[in-house]
Amino acid sequence: MAEERKLHEVVVIGAGVIGLTTAVKLQETGNYKVTIVAETFPTDPKTIKYTSHWAGAHHVSGGSGLQSETQLRLEQRTFEDMWPMSAPGQPTEGCFLRLSQSEYYGSENSVPYHLEGFMPNFKVLPPKELPTAAVYGLSFDTITIDVPVYLNYLLSRFLGRGGSIVRGSIQHISQIVENGARAFTQLPAYPRVDDRQQQQRRPDAIIVCAGIGARFLGGVEDKSVYPLRGQTVLLRSPWVRFGRTLCGSDGVWTYVIPRRSGDVIVGGTRIANDWFPTPRPEITKDILTRVIGLAPELAPPEVRAHRQPTADDLIPLIIEEGCGLRPAREDGIRLEVEWYTLGENKVPVVHNYGHSGTGYQSSWGSASDAFLLLEGALADGPPN
Ligand SMILES: Cc1cc2nc3c(=O)[nH]c(=O)nc-3n(C[C@H](O)[C@H](O)[C@H](O)COP(=O)(O)OP(=O)(O)OC[C@H]3O[C@@H](n4cnc5c(N)ncnc54)[C@H](O)[C@@H]3O)c2cc1C
Repeated sequence: MAEERKLHEVVVIGAGVIGLTTAVKLQETGNYKVTIVAETFPTDPKTIKYTSHWAGAHHVSGGSGLQSETQLRLEQRTFEDMWPMSAPGQPTEGCFLRLSQSEYYGSENSVPYHLEGFMPNFKVLPPKELPTAAVYGLSFDTITIDVPVYLNYLLSRFLGRGGSIVRGSIQHISQIVENGARAFTQLPAYPRVDDRQQQQRRPDAIIVCAGIGARFLGGVEDKSVYPLRGQTVLLRSPWVRFGRTLCGSDGVWTYVIPRRSGDVIVGGTRIANDWFPTPRPEITKDILTRVIGLAPELAPPEVRAHRQPTADDLIPLIIEEGCGLRPAREDGIRLEVEWYTLGENKVPVVHNYGHSGTGYQSSWGSASDAFLLLEGALADGPPN
């Protein structure tokens, strides 16, 4: 009988878009046996502790401010993966909507010039096509991601390739270092295992994809991670099939993100260190007022046929008000290896968190970098 190949056991902490994408990436190499341990999964009810449920989401680089070279590389890499996934006829097509995106800027300072040559059908808009609040504008083709569908697609892809999931609220990564995911599977403590078996229970590596939870997770406790709160409104406007953003001269972003399902996310806000976990009514009102100005097409066609629509025309279309805490980090995304020591054991811990407002559009790029860091750590071993 052929001897079973020894796979590296890896525990991924977190089942948001970052944890799921990273776990899929590793599992599909065939060299790893991956288990995700997380408090919240895509099939759970929405909670403020799980940001991925609350995103728009679209792939618009620079949509959340000017970025570093690394950030741009991660986003370009992700677009190269996601654009083919959204192609007509692909089995993944249903997770995405391809559309034409217009970006308007109230000041030239915030224009992301790097999009030229990177996004399909990129063009600079002539002044006569700009709204009065804008001094500059761009358009290009991109994708939006139907977030609930896409997260469940990632989870099923991971499970379908032999990945495992375990629910657990981890207080300290030492809980995983010592006993892997088994610390949360409630297996009996007896019969006692000998030292060799105990050794085998330890994971070969851990990947931390805990989002905002990285601020609190023992052994990580990265206090440079902070919330960038975003509030949105989910509307039912299936007749809207374009994306549009205005970055006002006051720095306020107003956006329209239609999903394939016909739902449309409109927003938004970006407030640092605001932990408030539920939507504020006055902000919902402000968002509706701003978006009807930016995109009157959100109102039902029968209303627009007779008069100029107002924010009140959007109220019957509301499915849900929402808010999420973007996991921002002072130095941007953390992609690096640390070695964790427990007794005589050293385990590589790869960090992949702090994606702020770009977790979807940088997910595949970040997963690739995390994978390379992991391979390097396992090949080289701990530093002396
Ligand atoms: C309003 C809004 C709009 C957005 N729009 C976009 C967009 O258009 N495009 C885009 O790319 N991004 C967008 N984002 C950002 C995007 O949602 C985030 O960057 C992304 O969801 C972060 O994913 P994550 O996996 O790092 O974190 P999360 O989704 O929060 O997942 C964290 C995971 O870690 C687990 N966890 C944490 N701590 C522990 C612990 N101690 N024990 C066990 N499990 C733990 C959680 O249970 C969860 O499973 C938006 C965000 C918001 C709020």
